[in-house]
Amino acid sequence: MPDSSRRIVIKCGTRLVTTPTGLNDVFVSDIAQQIAEVREMGTQVALVTSGAVAAGRTIAPMSGDALVTRQVLAAVGQAPLMTQYAEKFGNKGIVVAQALLSRADLAHRSGYLNARNALNGLLDADILPVANENDVVATEELRFGDNDALSVLIAKLIGADRLCILSSVGGLYTGDPTTDPHAELIRDAGKVPRENLERMAGDASEGGSGGMRSKLQAAFEAVTDGIDVVIADGNESDVIVRLEHGESLGTSLSALGPIRSSRARWLSSSLGQRGEIVVDSGAQRAVVHDGRSLLPAGITKIQGVFERGDLVGLVNPHQEVFARGLVNYDSENLAKIVGRPSSEIFATLRFSYGDEVVHRNNLVVMDRSDEKNG
Ligand code: GLU
Repeated sequence: MPDSSRRIVIKCGTRLVTTPTGLNDVFVSDIAQQIAEVREMGTQVALVTSGAVAAGRTIAPMSGDALVTRQVLAAVGQAPLMTQYAEKFGNKGIVVAQALLSRADLAHRSGYLNARNALNGLLDADILPVANENDVVATEELRFGDNDALSVLIAKLIGADRLCILSSVGGLYTGDPTTDPHAELIRDAGKVPRENLERMAGDASEGGSGGMRSKLQAAFEAVTDGIDVVIADGNESDVIVRLEHGESLGTSLSALGPIRSSRARWLSSSLGQRGEIVVDSGAQRAVVHDGRSLLPAGITKIQGVFERGDLVGLVNPHQEVFARGLVNYDSENLAKIVGRPSSEIFATLRFSYGDEVVHRNNLVVMDRSDEKNG
């Protein structure tokens, strides 16, 4: 259902939401006030919050970071965390809804669509979704690990205009601001080459599971899909409201193009990717610059095991994923036609699902600078 209202996702990190002794009710009251103001402006808001594990730690006598410990602590802390939101937003007349999501649920298209319908249903009913990872059932291999990754996914799911990552660090700096007095805030990350940003983010780790590197990774994913990103200090007064009024705070990264369609946002996500197809530079050029499908002739190698219809990453000779799409051949059969002209597919396999290994209509390119089909 098309929705013309502006939508934003706000992500609050553990260090904002909790103190060493429990939940930070001053912070939660403050963002409830700010979000109430932003909603008055006609903007729909979804919140992503961390803090369940940290809140649990102040209640249950457990230490360490083992998976089962985190599961127990999240199970203990999630209810008080949610109660805090329900109370503070309730004071502003806003109904909140808990949305616990796990990577496993969202890795398949059907789960993704299911979550999208639920979130859109909440927004349409004027209810504020408050999302967190479902840490109680998350496994080591299949967890977001930090809510930066989850927040991009929520932004993709609801087709947000902006993702606002609030943390205790005011944005991305040229060095670690806690140790380097010369570290400067980068206001417009779009003006800095990506490799430099990655290097700087590596230096300026915030600690916890969501350091600056993971925020930057999340930001790159979002801007590729056409979602603006701001990384800002959650303790800055009225930060959410001021950003919505157009003030420049923290580090901003502008969308690389108009927002992609819901289906393209799903295709571009690394979440559902099952395997990789390595291609030569000619095939990369044909896909990226000429708007072509991927044919077997340009493939040099298959990585991983996948079925026909799975989402795969197209990888260049430097092992960088430059596109993602739905594959027409499973990995076993594809291995038999690697490097061959499409005219030999039938003779080799004794069947054919068509000339294309990944059809153009089922593919998105990460680089949007010379986009052919939006
Ligand atoms: N889901 C975790 C929690 O609520 C937080 C993960 C993170 O550090 O972002 O405690």
